[in-house]
Amino acid sequence: MTTRIVILGSTGSIGRQTLEVVDHLNALQKRGVFASGFEVVGLAAGKDGKLLAEQASRFGVRALALSGGGPDAPKGVFTGPDAAERLVREVECDVVLAAIVGSAGLPATLAAVELGRDVALANKETLVAAGSLVVPAAHRTGAKLLPVDSEHAAVWQCLRAAPEGALLIPALRAFPASVKKITLTASGGPFRTWEKSRIAAATRAEALKHPTWSMGEKVTVDSASLMNKALELIEAHWLFAIPAEKLEAVVHPQSIAHALVEFQDSSVVAQLACPDMRGPIQQALSFPQRAPSLVKPLDLCEASPVLQFEPPDLSRFPLLGLAGRVIEAGGTSGATFNAANEEAVYAFLRSEIAFGRIAELVVDAMDVIAPSTLSSLDDALEADRRARQHVRESLRRSTVSA
Ligand code: NDP
Repeated sequence: MTTRIVILGSTGSIGRQTLEVVDHLNALQKRGVFASGFEVVGLAAGKDGKLLAEQASRFGVRALALSGGGPDAPKGVFTGPDAAERLVREVECDVVLAAIVGSAGLPATLAAVELGRDVALANKETLVAAGSLVVPAAHRTGAKLLPVDSEHAAVWQCLRAAPEGALLIPALRAFPASVKKITLTASGGPFRTWEKSRIAAATRAEALKHPTWSMGEKVTVDSASLMNKALELIEAHWLFAIPAEKLEAVVHPQSIAHALVEFQDSSVVAQLACPDMRGPIQQALSFPQRAPSLVKPLDLCEASPVLQFEPPDLSRFPLLGLAGRVIEAGGTSGATFNAANEEAVYAFLRSEIAFGRIAELVVDAMDVIAPSTLSSLDDALEADRRARQHVRESLRRSTVSA
């Protein structure tokens, strides 16, 4: 048996690790340890044409998309802003691994779901910006949303202890009655113990120094501000049909327990593993099988004699506090929240603003831009555009007045 896979964002951190997992599972299949092999039938990237070409040659892939590719791109490669979406629409496959960073991944991911392809979902911004489009589309077409984010992969594994067990394949249609609460863990990022004023002035290099995970730059900055956890709470709401009041985040600096599910009988089931994204990627691609993975086995005594859990401090990390507001408001509020953050984070990465300005800009966009109805992709993209424009104008105003 062969599973045909398209990888969106193949040149990034998740994309590259996905290709490692594909190699690994194919080797296991050859040894008779794993039932199905993988054929990579499409790859999409942003600007890194050189790495894309190397990956294509190594995996024998002919269908390629390079959104940032110009007229000199090799013949037959989709280029332009809709390149990844066109690739998804043109290439037959069984699963799409969605790992483009940011809301740029939304049109291609939504297209995959509308076509009924299973989606291994790393691109959390898609659900934050347009969960109310993606989830009903998945229900309509039967596409599975297989979580790649480590916390959501963990929740999904914990939920198999529910009476409905194996039947609970995201996106869930209803929150299981046997579950009381879902807790996502956050490492706390590099500024976990820092004073508010020191966080506000943190540099790019300091924000990119994540204590436990190695990831792309945008998600690393989001982890430092705890915006990443806010995005993940919203993502969990959409994947597991869970209301905001039953969702929480706790800081767990060791990143060993990735999520915990509390059942009605007060039993708590947690998923533990060494922090290595190749684990959740393999979970998504090999479901429902369990095969040996590339992740180092967990030795609890050696890894960390103490597992700490502490409440997040919303006065130092205000963006985390906005997740519940976004879930309650619905409509375009997720698209606004996400796009304002993307715009602010890239300004920070270009060293145009201090770290503390990211949260200020996002909070301001949320206060000024009222949410409206979201009934189409265009509504989501328009909200995304407005939020970016609002942040850019705020940045221009502060530059002029400085
Ligand atoms: P990276 O920045 O490492 O990679 C991003 C990928 O997206 C690159 O392949 C990039 O291409 C591609 N890309 C960017 N814009 C476009 C576009 N317009 N069209 C097509 N491709 C595009 O990010 P990560 O791999 O770290 O993260 C990817 C997603 O996975 C994010 O949503 C993140 O939140 C999520 N995630 C990441 C985790 C991690 O450990 N890294 C953990 C959990 C979730 P190029 O480089 O060629 O420009």
